[in-house]
Amino acid sequence: MNQSENISNLFGRMTFNKSIMEKRLNQKIFLKLMDTIDHETSLDSDVANEVAHAMKEWALEHGATHFAHWFQPQRGMTAEKHDSFLAFSDDGLPIQRFSGVQLIQGEPDASSFPSGGMRSTFEARGYTAWDPTSPAFIQKTKQSVTLVIPSVFLSYTGTVLDNKTPFLRSLHAIEDSAKRLIKTFSGKSIKSVKTTIGAEQEFFLVNKMFLEERHDLLLCGRTLIGGLSAKNQQMEDHYFGAIKPRVLDFMHDAEFQMLERGIPAKTRHNEVAPNQFEIAPIFEEANFAVDHNLQMMEILQQSADEHGFAILFHEKPFKGVNGSGKHMNWSLVDSNGKNLFEPSTEPKHNLQFLLFLSGLLIGVQKYGALLRAVVADAGNDHRLGANEAPPAIMSVYLGEYLSGLLQKIKNDEELDDHISDSINLGIKKLPQIRKDNTDRNRTSPMAFTGNKFEFRAVGSSQNVAEPAMVMNLIVAFGLDAVSRRLEKSLKEHKNRATAALAVIRDAVEETENVRFEGDNYGEAWEREAKKRGLLNLKTTPESLKILTQNDTIELFQNYGILNEKELKSKYDIKLAAYVKIKDVEMKILLEMAETMVLPALIRNANNLAQLANSLTKANVRLNREIDNISKMISKMYAAMDVVRNTISQIQQNGDAKKTASMIVNRGIAAMDELRGLCDKAETIVEDNLWLLPKYREMLF
Ligand code: ADP
Ligand code: MG
Repeated sequence: MNQSENISNLFGRMTFNKSIMEKRLNQKIFLKLMDTIDHETSLDSDVANEVAHAMKEWALEHGATHFAHWFQPQRGMTAEKHDSFLAFSDDGLPIQRFSGVQLIQGEPDASSFPSGGMRSTFEARGYTAWDPTSPAFIQKTKQSVTLVIPSVFLSYTGTVLDNKTPFLRSLHAIEDSAKRLIKTFSGKSIKSVKTTIGAEQEFFLVNKMFLEERHDLLLCGRTLIGGLSAKNQQMEDHYFGAIKPRVLDFMHDAEFQMLERGIPAKTRHNEVAPNQFEIAPIFEEANFAVDHNLQMMEILQQSADEHGFAILFHEKPFKGVNGSGKHMNWSLVDSNGKNLFEPSTEPKHNLQFLLFLSGLLIGVQKYGALLRAVVADAGNDHRLGANEAPPAIMSVYLGEYLSGLLQKIKNDEELDDHISDSINLGIKKLPQIRKDNTDRNRTSPMAFTGNKFEFRAVGSSQNVAEPAMVMNLIVAFGLDAVSRRLEKSLKEHKNRATAALAVIRDAVEETENVRFEGDNYGEAWEREAKKRGLLNLKTTPESLKILTQNDTIELFQNYGILNEKELKSKYDIKLAAYVKIKDVEMKILLEMAETMVLPALIRNANNLAQLANSLTKANVRLNREIDNISKMISKMYAAMDVVRNTISQIQQNGDAKKTASMIVNRGIAAMDELRGLCDKAETIVEDNLWLLPKYREMLF
């Protein structure tokens, strides 16, 4: 890579973006394509052919030999199917061809993607379709160059099979609802409202060689055995110092590729845990932000590999060490560039801000558990519901100033009389809400941070498309409720400000239970939340049930996001994934205990027994130690039996729901018990008999 290259030269040069299209397409075609993108009209085949041709020529100049439709299956991350540009001309000569049809529609072999029973065997396969709102890009490995086409993934009957389709639909839903509220309040029509997202990505980095020695890391993405001893925690970071230049090289490489892809990312070391890092990109329109986060994860993975590292996106790779999340910063921006969640110095804008805030609060109040459900998986259970940030109870933190303001609005009983028709009076009522007035609460799952909301419950390995989809959906619901009330209120009050304030006051009252400014950790909040009637869904199976509730189905259907069958299949896919992950974890843990920990204990006991035999006089301490280890060996056998039994019961049981509750009720405790013994063994077994790399080796 050329270090001296100018960022403005390299930024986005591996993407077939708007400015490249403008340069390479004739103007008529370009305008038609832009019209398609802006208004989502259907694409003419002549436009598609021209675009495909220009895209191919551009890709060939970059050395591409293949193209791939890149999509977001529900099992997470992304998938792609590569096809060669190779074709043969009429006279049998090899040529490179890429048609409009190939651009628009691909046919991956969908049979191996989870569909939650949506696709019966006789039904035709699924297909991918180009999403022209997200730019195609060049993907490079050491040897290969591929033109990658962001796509949605559907069945031939039009059933949703991916995460991108419902997400794109949710963007429309919230846009419509936001425009309606603006129109209702101000009487003005706004051209567009877009969702903006900034996803902060956390991850761990370890030396790749450890994956060969640790099956748990390789196959589960996390350690199933191991811990930090008190001694390790105080370790100097001189080990870390030694790998630092390599880490920097990796980051530099990854960052360079991200910039070439037009991903506005900045890597930085995260201070919280050793070897943990974070990338916070500059926020973008939601569809870009989601696709960019997925690309970023792929780039990081590839670059890590090239630099001899393994990247861990798992939410909790190391016990006793901070886990990883993906904070989703979320807001709305209108076509004038105004952030709809940004308080303003102008009171009438602040009223609009407070109406939007009311909508968000109503949405979370009614459907907060849905936000919890959509980020529920085996990995994230180690954060939500375990003693890690944030808790499983969904609440909103607004900061002292904004909370105080809402309280004032609520308490002012003479609101209607006092605010007649003077906006000036509004100034007194609604003093300027300043950005720096939002003091930070790091423990809340959803925090207002001045001009956006930060949803912190997303797992580091997850696709933001899903939580973003739910966020859009529930806020759309809330905004519509506000619009309806405002329409009514405007008939009752002649003054707009008064009408709006009445609606805001009702919303403030109604959403009191989801607003929480205190410490979200600990039992005090759990007790308080229970009193408030907020759900505290600690495990994935429990949380997923929300997806099948009637009010959830109604919400998804009303906004045209997913139908009942599709929601049910989402539930099935997520539950099956949970069972599968836990099943694999139990098997790997059992195998590691049996083949690595137990033999080490036995060998250690033997060594000590030999030593004891060789002594002429019995050593009490030595015998006690031998006795200790023997007892541990017996306990290990017992704990292994419990895990083994649970695994075989899972195998006999065909029903995912029953299996999942078996895992929750017995499997997890059995794993914890066995792990506890293994972790204890790690602290007593002679170091040279212990085959697994320890935390202190991997993390420092
Ligand atoms: P912190 O680490 O304190 O949470 P950062 O500054 O690291 O905050 O990250 C904030 C993230 O929020 C960045 O990705 C930033 O681009 C993003 N962001 C800022 N404004 C908006 C907005 N209006 N909409 C969406 N995301 C935003
Ligand atoms: Mg953050």
